[in-house]
Amino acid sequence: MRNVIIAGNWKMYKDLSATSELVEGLKTRLASVPPRVTVVVCPPFTSLAAAGSMLKGSTMKLGAQNMSQHDEGAYTGEISWNMIRSAGCEYVILGHSERRQYFGEKDELINAKAKKALASSLKPIICVGETLAEREGGITDRVITAQVKGVLAGLTRSDMSSVVIAYEPVWAIGTGKTATPAQAQEVHQLIRKLISQMHDWPLAEQTVIQYGGSVKPDNAAELLSQNDIDGALVGGACLKADSFAAIVNAVK
Ligand code: PEP
Repeated sequence: MRNVIIAGNWKMYKDLSATSELVEGLKTRLASVPPRVTVVVCPPFTSLAAAGSMLKGSTMKLGAQNMSQHDEGAYTGEISWNMIRSAGCEYVILGHSERRQYFGEKDELINAKAKKALASSLKPIICVGETLAEREGGITDRVITAQVKGVLAGLTRSDMSSVVIAYEPVWAIGTGKTATPAQAQEVHQLIRKLISQMHDWPLAEQTVIQYGGSVKPDNAAELLSQNDIDGALVGGACLKADSFAAIVNAVK
């Protein structure tokens, strides 16, 4: 049975006091989770260190929402792997569709960031997903294939053991529209097949592939019960302790 990872992407929400309120709420509600379930919280950069100290001693892990592909230097406004690691991060979300859409991130850059994260012992949660126009144009498989091959290019078998993939159909993010469990399962199966072609089946079988896109307490159990869905990347519903904990508790 594969591990399950439920990650909360706080996006650009929560100042320091709201961060401590939410982390406290999660610590109370998620004091014990089954061993095969990993819970990751991904606050904004300004809250990472505070959340990192509050999470010490808890089973929840800390993640950042992005990082630079560079080690350090004159890159105003950027944040390095070392900075997020020193704040307590084990995970980093890379290539979120909002980074692709508003900040021009392409597969090649996301691949460079993934390589830097892996070389720095961070576990990248790498996002892929098609837009509504691409789905309606019947090219979902082609788009996902190009993205998966692009973002995972050159990663070794051992790199892959630390990689998490998040399938996030862009049309389902923050829109309240969720892919049906069957639609999500179909793409997850494709992603697993692509990983097996790039490496082998045993590796593909172990890779954690999360679904993201309007996951809520009332649809989580059905999505998570699909064969190839191994967790969730949650946006809106992770901003309240009750709803995020309910999604974690939906894992069977
Ligand atoms: C996300 O930001 O990764 C996401 C899936 O958002 P939402 O759950 O709000 O659709």
